[in-house]
Amino acid sequence: MADERLISSSMHEDDAKNEYSLRPHFLGEYIGQDVVKEHMQIYIEAAKNRGESLDHALLYGPPGLGKTTLAGIIANEMGVSLRVTSGPAISHAGDLAALLTNVSPGDVLFIDEIHRLNASVEEVLYPAMEDYALDIIIGKGPSARSIRLDLPKFTLIGATTRMGMLSSPLRDRFGIKEQLDLYSAEALKEIIIRSADILHIEIDEEGALEIASRSRGTPRIANRLLRRVRDFSQVKRRGIIDLETAQSALEMLAIDELGLDAVDLKMLYAMIDIFKGGPVGLDTIAAYTGEDAGTVEDVYEPYLLKLGFIARTSRGRIVLPPAYEHLDLPVPVQQGQQLKLEV
Ligand code: ADP
Repeated sequence: MADERLISSSMHEDDAKNEYSLRPHFLGEYIGQDVVKEHMQIYIEAAKNRGESLDHALLYGPPGLGKTTLAGIIANEMGVSLRVTSGPAISHAGDLAALLTNVSPGDVLFIDEIHRLNASVEEVLYPAMEDYALDIIIGKGPSARSIRLDLPKFTLIGATTRMGMLSSPLRDRFGIKEQLDLYSAEALKEIIIRSADILHIEIDEEGALEIASRSRGTPRIANRLLRRVRDFSQVKRRGIIDLETAQSALEMLAIDELGLDAVDLKMLYAMIDIFKGGPVGLDTIAAYTGEDAGTVEDVYEPYLLKLGFIARTSRGRIVLPPAYEHLDLPVPVQQGQQLKLEV
């Protein structure tokens, strides 16, 4: 299945088995994202000094960048419990009411994919976030009445890959909003060295940097590639993972030196050969890659945008010169000039 791509940032089955042990538990172990870390450190310290719960926080950015991990860290740093759920898992207002009436003062409730909450659940969430209260309707028809239940002061942490899909009343109720960015190769190298240590994998700095450079700025992919390179090394090399081992393994896995795989290349070649470099609509790209449009937009495009290989314009996606250079193709003249870029 397309989602099983080695460089997909969504979670695979074998990630789930390993992620728990690899997750950092405190801010000091959380590598990279310096701005977000600095902000969170201040907010946490201030809330602790006041003896209050932390303000509600919204974390947004592509999958696999550490939103769930950060929610766990916040709970640990605040010394409270974490409850984890997700937008699609809360299908009725009653499910949310059950969750909220079970939290203890200060606890963190983490809702992943919060943009997928349905409207009736959101309605219940507003007073819970704002006034720490739950409005419950008892009975039906003319005899129905509403009672208000007080809730303990809790912290809601919402995570989303789609800030644009969040309703504005919900967005406005978060006092803290932090965007996670793709990681630098240096930061991913550190993450790989830390994970290798936990998993008892021997790796040198150059080997770690090589895997890091091909991990699309995403810790989840970095950890997954590390495990695959370890398999290769165990069977074919039986030694420490160095530059040569990492390169041979990643070549065998058909992941190029920038972390692009066959699907990325297919998409770029289609945009260049068939659509003359674009603009190409998102749905057309999705059809060519066999993914749905949302996955292309959330999971695959952020990295190609970061590389400067494609741009989003008012009329669709266009291929930019660095992509032609990477593919060893001549850069067309005048390409994309009169198009208005979306920012
Ligand atoms: P998200 O919730 O954004 O999809 P996760 O929090 O599940 O991402 O992170 C995926 C994996 O990446 C985690 O298991 C963790 O091991 C690793 N990870 C993420 N961010 C960091 C970080 N800053 N430092 C070290 N490891 C990280």
